[in-house]
Amino acid sequence: LPSRSRFVLGQLELGQRICDALSQPYRVAGNIAELSGTIGWAAFPDAGNTVTQVFERADAALYVGKEGRRGTAVIFSTEHETRIRRSSLVTQELRHAELESELFLEFQPISDVVTRRTIGLEALGRWHNPRLGAVKPEEFIRIAERTEIILRITEVLLHKALAEVPHWPAELYLSFNLSAIDISTSARARRLIDIVSASGVPPHRVSFEITETAVTRDFEQARSALTMIKQAGCRVSLDDFGTGYSSLSYVHRLPFDSIKIDRSFMTDVDSNSASKKIVKSVLDLCKNLGLECVVEGLETSSQAEVVKALGARAVQGYLFSPPMRSGAVSGYLQAALAQSQANDAAS
Ligand code: C2E
Ligand code: MG
Ligand code: MG
Repeated sequence: LPSRSRFVLGQLELGQRICDALSQPYRVAGNIAELSGTIGWAAFPDAGNTVTQVFERADAALYVGKEGRRGTAVIFSTEHETRIRRSSLVTQELRHAELESELFLEFQPISDVVTRRTIGLEALGRWHNPRLGAVKPEEFIRIAERTEIILRITEVLLHKALAEVPHWPAELYLSFNLSAIDISTSARARRLIDIVSASGVPPHRVSFEITETAVTRDFEQARSALTMIKQAGCRVSLDDFGTGYSSLSYVHRLPFDSIKIDRSFMTDVDSNSASKKIVKSVLDLCKNLGLECVVEGLETSSQAEVVKALGARAVQGYLFSPPMRSGAVSGYLQAALAQSQANDAAS
């Protein structure tokens, strides 16, 4: 092998050994603890001529690793460079964007799979920028989360979401996504509560979704922020369950009202017995703990039959409706109600 390839292989192998060593469970004070590490490599002089440049590029490789290849070592490549460029472009545009007019929401119904009634709507952030066009939420949220821009985004979107709620039937709730940084201080959590109070929407109609990774960053802080939110009368929900560590201790030690099973389990729930068992055990766990469980990513009626048989009630996914603009919500709700009533009459 040419020396460069040998060097790359050596780095990858060393990196993988470090990651493997880190992922070994170990005992602390009688408990089993687990860690994982992802490594970004960049070598001088290939990846840059200055320490700062090499470091930034190692960080870029790390980012790419964390996004799709957690627990592995990733070596910087020019493809990562393209990503960095795109990232800094998006950051620049976000900084100068007129968030109030460029951000808007789409809403996706959460329904009862048995009665087919709508029980709530999840607000999903959308950004249309004059220069970049539509930017996917996964991209702009991730980038905004690296800076405090996300705080402003959350505020703008929360105001917009709350403004829609009075147009919905009183039994429907709003589910709203938060980022880790939104609950990273008590003052921030307080700000969210104040926005809900000022809107006049009864707090019990508002549910805040937070992912497990957001909670794991600073568990104690997350717990105190979520507790404040709960005490204000809002609900809290654990989003994308099953994609992170899925540690049952979070479910137990944080004041969740509901758990949302990540949509990745739906893809093969009707053909893969492992997925089916996982969904079933999360549904059972929720039932035992008295939590609501929302099955995400329901696309086909065959998946609906399977999850219904497993005991699911709340579901969300393209089968009921893709996310829609706010103007389409009332039409959808009327049609869905008529359909569930026809269902009732038939059964
Ligand atoms: P999420 O909170 O888990 O939202 C559900 C995502 O699944 C949405 O993607 C939705 O369009 C998509 N989805 C719903 N049903 C189906 C289905 O049947 N099949 C498939 N394949 N996909 C389905 P979206 O809107 O692209 O949002 C992606 C993620 O971005 C969200 O995942 C959430 O984590 C984040 N996000 C979106 N809006 C916001 C926001 O306002 N604030 C924050 N912090 N994060 C947001
Ligand atoms: Mg969500
Ligand atoms: Mg989700």
